[in-house]
Amino acid sequence: MPNLFGEIELGVAEVVPFDGGARAYSYSVPAGLAKTLQVGQLVRVPLGGRVSLGVVWKYPAEAPANTKLRSVILLEYEQPVLTPDCCRLAEWMAGYYGCSLNSVLETVLPAAVRKGVRPVLQRSLTLAKLPEKEVLEKMRRKAPRQAEALDFLSAQKGPVERAKLIAGLGMSQSAVDALIKQGLVHEEARVLWREAYKNPFAEGEVVPAAGHKLNPEQVAAVESAAQSLAKKTFHTHLLHGVTGSGKTEVYVALIRQVVAAGGSAIFLVPEVALTPQTVGRLRSRLADLGVKVVVWHSHLSAGERFDAWMAMSLGQSRVVVGARSAVFAPLHDLRLIIVDEEHEPSFKQGETPMYHGRDVAVMRASLLGITCVLGSATPSLETWRNAQAGRYILNTMAKRVDDRPMPAFRIVDMRREILHSKGQHMLSRELVQGLRERLEKREQAILFLNRRGHSRSLVCPDCGAVVQCPRCSVALTLHREDDTARCHLCNHQEKAPVLCPQCRSPKVRWKGYGTQKVEETLTHLFPRARVARMDADTMSKKDRFREILSDFRAGKYDILLGTQMIAKGLDFPRVTLVGIIDADLSLQLPDFRASERTFQLLTQVAGRAGRGDLEGVVVVQTFQPATDPIQFAKRLDFLGFASAELERRTEFGYPPCRHLIRHVFRGRSVDKVNFVADAWVQELNRLHPGLAEIRGPAPCPFEKIQDQHRVHLWYFVSGVKSFLAAMLPLRAKFLCDEEVIDVLDVDAQDCA
Ligand SMILES: [Zn+2]
Ligand SMILES: [Zn+2]
Repeated sequence: MPNLFGEIELGVAEVVPFDGGARAYSYSVPAGLAKTLQVGQLVRVPLGGRVSLGVVWKYPAEAPANTKLRSVILLEYEQPVLTPDCCRLAEWMAGYYGCSLNSVLETVLPAAVRKGVRPVLQRSLTLAKLPEKEVLEKMRRKAPRQAEALDFLSAQKGPVERAKLIAGLGMSQSAVDALIKQGLVHEEARVLWREAYKNPFAEGEVVPAAGHKLNPEQVAAVESAAQSLAKKTFHTHLLHGVTGSGKTEVYVALIRQVVAAGGSAIFLVPEVALTPQTVGRLRSRLADLGVKVVVWHSHLSAGERFDAWMAMSLGQSRVVVGARSAVFAPLHDLRLIIVDEEHEPSFKQGETPMYHGRDVAVMRASLLGITCVLGSATPSLETWRNAQAGRYILNTMAKRVDDRPMPAFRIVDMRREILHSKGQHMLSRELVQGLRERLEKREQAILFLNRRGHSRSLVCPDCGAVVQCPRCSVALTLHREDDTARCHLCNHQEKAPVLCPQCRSPKVRWKGYGTQKVEETLTHLFPRARVARMDADTMSKKDRFREILSDFRAGKYDILLGTQMIAKGLDFPRVTLVGIIDADLSLQLPDFRASERTFQLLTQVAGRAGRGDLEGVVVVQTFQPATDPIQFAKRLDFLGFASAELERRTEFGYPPCRHLIRHVFRGRSVDKVNFVADAWVQELNRLHPGLAEIRGPAPCPFEKIQDQHRVHLWYFVSGVKSFLAAMLPLRAKFLCDEEVIDVLDVDAQDCA
């Protein structure tokens, strides 16, 4: 319809307001915005009696019939904060993960952007023209400061910051404004992104970027992905390269190609704070192209996040390296998404929306028609099956760079070891001997144990009690440094008991061990060895991780001992021994992926050995030496493991043959939780018989966390969307008990 002037068409836009209950509303677009409004921009709109921020979802849109539309009030930022494909991606996520569009937007957009925080404006001045001589002379008498400012500006080569000029010459704001008004001075307002590149943490560990002539396998992988890039259509590659095969160099080569051609790239890593080496290497390898690499991870401050996001959405940066939520980066002309260590469970978000960063990456690539590269030495079976079926292009790198040998595996049967050992039996004789030799040769060792704390549990021999957390169904762990018993689920802490809480027996004993106790034992066995321990307890300080890794690299430590933190991507040339102290831990997980996790862990941790010129050995301690994951890992046989494991999964109908959706019910009353879960299953079966194969309800492996009793159901389905389409409306009607909360986890990675 024509506006008051009868000339400019007022458009209609659909906007998703953040306070609006997860749907799009129609608004009219004022004439002043009609030409500039774009999908993905942040706007202010009226909603009920309030004003809400929201994202332009569709523009131009159809005007709904017979409705008087309210108008968009204000455009927050000129540049869109979401790319149009990310709007479609968010819709897909809401549908696939069964959650509201608003909860998706909360994840996708940084909080400061969602709040419409104003960026810092830098206003700079340049001389537009000098006035006529007489005018200038007059000015020198009547307004000497203004004349001085003109003199100053005329002597400068570039623009001068307004604030500096005012402070330097002692001018008033209005005097400057007057000069601008007269057309003598030109002012330019620029959004200032001060923090994005200055974060010291983001600089990454400095790694020399020497020697990157690619070997034939690397060249073949780069060429294969480059063909997909050239076609500009959707392709997914699986880069299956053994540990130490130089996958990062392949990524760097591809990113360089994309950037040189004017495009952008996203590089996802499992936890960027833990891979400072990768960041450092990427920065140094892209420096010559003048590319600013934005780093995106959970340790950024709100301001840093805001700046980084805006720098990307303005097109000032074309490469982002980050953890899973970097997959939504608003980069211009995105052409490549890389997911390194695609098998890592940390790509799955643990709270709503429980999305998988890798799967969202593939989906975004398909929406944009671009190339996605997934890399791993131990691909997830989901990805492997896609490659086997020809849906992904498989690029294999079977050799380490410079033909370095793969590390040799030594499996120690701890059942025998216990018979022969006196005193401690945490560290086998073979491992102790190996450590001794490394110390003598001044080489380094890494020891891995995925359990922090000192002793695992407090057991009473008189009444058989195991001391549990009062709020969770797990045993308390001893922490020696302050003699507390702590719960690793809820962080409950109490003074370590000396009497059995049940029968008051003084004979209670701490059993089992964690990293603290191993550290004690190492210090006892090798008093002169320099041992660094790295786990959640020692890593409370923000940059401690980087410090320890740098010191270890510099040879200030002999032995690095840690939890799963140290399993990922670290590259230390002088490490020639890796010890896995308890390989059975991950086998005991109550998880159908326990074998897969164990195989991945052994292979990844072992991959830390022998990456320099010295050969590496891996010592694996286990009570179950004959199990599949240990045997296949020992033979470095991913293909064998994957085919055996896929066969087993198929037999039991587990993923990747079907999708698995976990439905958790929790509440303070165990009876009520059970009742609701049971009633729900009956209702679902009654109204939608055969919709899914349902297993459960059953108590979760962690039956109680923070006084919340937990019960879960498993749905085995072949199509997620069709299942949810039928199930969600029923859930909305049926499950509204305030005392029982239920959470859906599509493609669950966490079974506990
Ligand atoms: Zn007792
Ligand atoms: Zn607890």
